[in-house]
This record gives sequence, C-alpha cells and structure tokens, in this order.
Amino acid sequence: MDKKSRIEDLIKKINELNYHYYTLDEPIVSDGEYDKLYDELVILEKETGYVKEGSPTQRVGGTVLEGFVKHTHINSLYSLAKAQSIKELEDWGARCEKLVSNYNSENEDKLPPLEYIIELKFDGLTINLTYNEGKLQMAATRGNGTIGEEILPQVKTIKSIPLEIDYKGLMEVQGEGLMPLSELKKYNKNNEIQLKNARNAAAGALRNLNPKETEKRHLTAFLYNIGYIEGKEFATQLEMVDFIKENKFKVNKFFRVAKNIEEIEEVIEYINEYRKTIDILTDGAVIKINDMKTREILGYTNKFPRWAIAYKFEPEEVTTILKEVIWNVGRTGKVTPTAILEPVEIGDVTVQRATLNNYDDILRKKVELNSRVLIRRSNDVIPEILGTIEDGRETSKIEMPTECPYCHTELIKDGVHIFCPNSMSCEPQLVSRLVHFASRDAMNIDGLSEKTVEKMLEILNVHQISQIYDVTEEDLYKIPGFKEKKTNNLLKAIEKSKNIKLENFIYAIGIPNVGIKTSEDLAKIFMSLDKLRNATAEELVEVEDIGEITAQAIVEFFHDEEIVNGIDSLLSKGIVIKNPVVKEVSEDSKFLDKRIVITGSFENYKRKDLENLFKEKGAKTGSSVSKNTNYVIVGTDPGSKLTKAQEIGVEVVREEELEEFIKE
Ligand code: NAD
Repeated sequence: MDKKSRIEDLIKKINELNYHYYTLDEPIVSDGEYDKLYDELVILEKETGYVKEGSPTQRVGGTVLEGFVKHTHINSLYSLAKAQSIKELEDWGARCEKLVSNYNSENEDKLPPLEYIIELKFDGLTINLTYNEGKLQMAATRGNGTIGEEILPQVKTIKSIPLEIDYKGLMEVQGEGLMPLSELKKYNKNNEIQLKNARNAAAGALRNLNPKETEKRHLTAFLYNIGYIEGKEFATQLEMVDFIKENKFKVNKFFRVAKNIEEIEEVIEYINEYRKTIDILTDGAVIKINDMKTREILGYTNKFPRWAIAYKFEPEEVTTILKEVIWNVGRTGKVTPTAILEPVEIGDVTVQRATLNNYDDILRKKVELNSRVLIRRSNDVIPEILGTIEDGRETSKIEMPTECPYCHTELIKDGVHIFCPNSMSCEPQLVSRLVHFASRDAMNIDGLSEKTVEKMLEILNVHQISQIYDVTEEDLYKIPGFKEKKTNNLLKAIEKSKNIKLENFIYAIGIPNVGIKTSEDLAKIFMSLDKLRNATAEELVEVEDIGEITAQAIVEFFHDEEIVNGIDSLLSKGIVIKNPVVKEVSEDSKFLDKRIVITGSFENYKRKDLENLFKEKGAKTGSSVSKNTNYVIVGTDPGSKLTKAQEIGVEVVREEELEEFIKE
C-alpha cells in the first residue's frame, strides 16, 4: 500500500476508534494499541507532508453526544503533546529552550530561565466549569475543544466542587473528573453491570443523561487550570494554582517544580512508583512551563500547547484473545478459573495467563472462549481480565465444571465459589496445603518446594501433613536429586520447624481467610493454641479485622473432626509452640484502655509499628471512629475518619504532634 492510501486508511481507523472512545465511552482497543496507530499516522504525515484537513492529528477529541446541549467554551481547550521516552522529553525541552532564546535575542523584555511544573496526569474526563458572580453557572466536557456538552447536573454530584466561590468575576476553571479506584471496586462488587476501568467509568458517569447514575459512582475531581478569567492575571502557574486553592477547589497535593530535564526525570521516576499507592488512575505526568509570559510566546498548535507535554508511562492495559480456561484446585479445595491467552506484550513482559475470580465473574464480565478481552497488569501480579470487547468474533460459552479436574469428585457450589470436597486425597489440595505449611510465615521449612512435595506424595506415599515429621534420611534418598547435603538440609529444616511461634503455627494450619496478620492478632489476643481452639464466635469478632464470617469459619475449623485429628497428630510429633510473652503495662500509662484509631499515611512511622506501640502502652486500636474513641491519629490523606472525628469532637493528633503525644 502506498503511503497516501495508508494515511487515509489510518484516518478512517482512528476516527472509528475515536468515536468509540470519546463519543460512546466504550473503547474497542487499548490505549497502547490506539497510540501505535496514531503515532504511525503522525510519522507518515511528516514524511509525506500529506495532512488532510479532518485528520485526527489536527483536532482535539470527540463530538457532542446526542441528547446533550452543546456548550461553547469561552477559551478553547487543548489536548497535550505526548512523550513516551526521556529522549522525546529532552527534544521537547530543547525546542522550548530554542524558542525562548530566539525570543530573547530579538526582544528587550527577556523571558526568565525555564522552570517547569510537574503534575500527575489524571486519567479521567476533562471538565470545564464556568463561574460568574461567585456561582457555578455551567459545567461542560472538553468535546472537540471549542464545543463541549453541558453536564451541570452531573458535575454537581461531585461533592468537592464548590457551588459558590469567593471570586466574583467570570471564569473558566478546568480539571479532571475521576472515579476513585476504591469506588470502582465497590461499584463492581455491588452492581450487575461491570465497569472496565476508572477512565471509562468516570467518562461514562459524567456523560450520562441520568445524574442519578453519575451520583452512584461517587466521582471526585482535581482542578488544575484557569482557562479564562476576567480582570485578573497570573504571572505563573504557581500563582494560578494558589488562586484555585484559595477558592476552595480540590487540587491534588502532588506538585513539583523542576529546573531542568534531569530534575524532571527524577520526578517522573518517583511518580511511577507513587501512582501505585494512590486511589486514582494516572497514566503519566504533565510537565508545564511555569512562566505565563513564556507560555504566551510559545503558543499553541492546532491541538496542543507548545509549553506543556504529557509524559506517558508504558501502557498497562492491552487486549488479546482468550483461548481456553483451565480450572485449578487450591489448598482449601476451591476450584478457580485461569484464562489462557494468546500471548501479548504489556510493557516488556509477555502475558499468557490472567485471573478470573470465579464462575460468576466469568458471567458478569461476559467472558467466552475466543472473546477479545481487555487485561490489565498491575504491580507484577498475574494480570486481571477487566472485561470483554465486542468486535463481532464468534465466541462460545465457558462451561462450569461439575467434577474435580484432578480427582473427578463431584464439585459442590458454595456461594460464588465451587469446591472439591475430597480434602483427603485430592492431590493438588494436599500439595498446596503442604507448600503453605512449609512457607516462610508458616513453619518456615526451607527446601520443601512444590516439586519436592509432589515427589513425597508420589514416592513416599505421604498423605497427611504430619507425616513429613516421620520422613527419614533413607526415604529422602529415594527422591531423585536428593543427595547427602540436600537431604541433611531438609531434615534439619524440618527438625528446626518444631520450635515455632504461636502466630506462625496458626498461620501454618491454614484456617480459611486467616492470613499472617490475622494470625498475629489471634496469637496476641488468645495467647495459646488451646484458648484459640476453644474461642467462641463472639470472642473472635472482637479481634480487629475479623468479621462474623471469618469468626464462624474459625470456630468450624477447630470443630472439624478431621482437622482436630490433624492438629493433634502434628502436636504428637514433638512440636513446641512458643506463646507470646505478655508485657506488663504500667498502671499509670496514659494510654491504658484508651481507644485509638489511626488513619492516613505517615512520613516517619509505619502504621503497624504505631499500632503496636499504642497496644504495648495498653491502648486498644480500632478501625472506626465512634463516640467511644479517645484519639484519632491522623497522617496524610486521612479521608472520612478525620471528618467523623471532627464532627463528633474526638481529639485529633497529627503526625507532627505525635512525638510529644507518645511521651509518657
Ligand atoms: P490525553 O488524555 O493523552 O491528554 C490530554 C488531557 O490530559 C487533557 O485534556 C486533560 O484532560 C488531561 N490531563 C490530566 N491531567 C492533567 C494535568 N495535570 N494538566 C493538564 N491536563 C491534564 O489526550 P487526549 O487527546 O484527551 O486523548 C488522547 C489519548 O486518549 C490517546 O493517547 C489514547 O491514549 C487515548 N485514546 C484511546 C482510544 C482508544 O480507542 N483506546 C481512542 C482515543 C484516544
């Protein structure tokens, strides 16, 4: 195909993708796939000089959705040029330097040295708010940059957007409407219709003709720009942001100033980690020149300001085809589906598998064999399927298994999960239980890998956890690869594990829903295995983070005959459990019996350490604020607990006051 026809072909394709993304809020490819086509078009247009008037490289965003009233912005809104590598960022920096030095060599009024502001690049929907006489008069989407859609009732559902402000002149303030990730999770848990990701969820909520639906999604918004203002000028972005804050808009606390590209690089590296810890979706960083006069001189292209650029991180979402679903059996007998995918690259990793939580998840996400699925990789865990993308391909239903794929026992359904009830001889269950038993936070038996466990089952006929304490040197020599050193090491590790702390033993026996943290809490509160074994559900729900379901599961666990025999059999092998030692709390500790709630994140303390510190001083820590709470310890981003504390008048202690507060 010659280059011109390819350009025309790309324009058609990209316009179609834009329609799905901007107009329908239902993209049919991932952003990474879109960006590839877009970049190809930019390169071809540059090479050939053949730039068609309606080319997506020449215009901003989408068109107005039917049903919405059109809104003409006072000043146009722009998109952002993007850099995907430091090299592209450096090129941009060099272009800005050059434009500034050209200007300075020809003019008397010199521009200052370049200074950059770095903000998070929020991945939501642009909103443009118009205020006049101190009141919110209108809210609109960006649309094609000149004309957007009126979405005032929808925007009013965002509680942090002020309806009245101090500034009385006419102005347009812009920002991004976002759905917090925690809200997305909650929504998907409680609603039949599944939202694929936070961006589509926010865009779909704001461009929804029914504001009640917008309200259900609990959006938030960060404001970052004044597009138009009557009777006021800002010399810098810093001044502008101060003004936005003074008028009580929500401004994201992440905000950095840099003098050069090296400093920008450092900040970008930081953001790439930082963004994984926050409750909103960000896909990069936005770098803007601070000085307004410089901005004016640099100006705009058809689509972007020349004085700003978006640095985009490697895409984390891609689409691929689901080839097959396999069912695995875990240590509790739970049978869970894993999707086998057509291999696809996300960043520099090839992905071939993704999690599907359970059969209901498959139905809700409308996943079928041969569907095109959207997957997301986050923090190196096995990727998750976010949903399916309808592209007209033929698909077929995934059947729910009726028998265990390993031992062929008939499966049972309990709520949304299916289980293999054959806990005695279903091999994968026993293997996982033994691997868990030997893991670091459990009995910490080095050398008892999954492979070794499988061999022990097969060759040594081990069929109960306690039998590993009967394994002899002679037995181990029967396993291929076990020579003197490996055998001795494993035997030593098994012997050593007989001296075990209570919390590790609790974790090792594998009570459903009880992780290491809960095991630690249980050990601290019940102080011995016997007390825990006899605990009632009422006593158990008193423990932090244990709800009624887990409490009931713990009680049932310790009353299951097979489990009781298993534990007794373990104890008969000479296991000695070390119970926690009680530290005497001084009678006159000012924290004795005080109820403390800790919220937010702390610069100089780990939350867990703080909790332990107060517990050692005799306090009780909890997770919800009530009239009975004595103190709320507040870090950054405290959320609703701080508001609640202030409402009911509970004493609030901030991080800077902590050192003094902790002193007895
Ligand atoms: P963009 O989203 O890449 O960047 C511009 C936007 O960033 C601005 O309009 C603004 O709303 C937002 N922004 C966030 N934080 C900001 C901050 N701190 N300061 C200033 N602005 C900030 O550009 P775009 O033109 O809106 O969209 C293009 C991108 O959208 C593509 O690169 C692609 O990733 C995606 N897209 C995907 C598809 C698809 O089919 N998957 C289709 C079209 C577009």
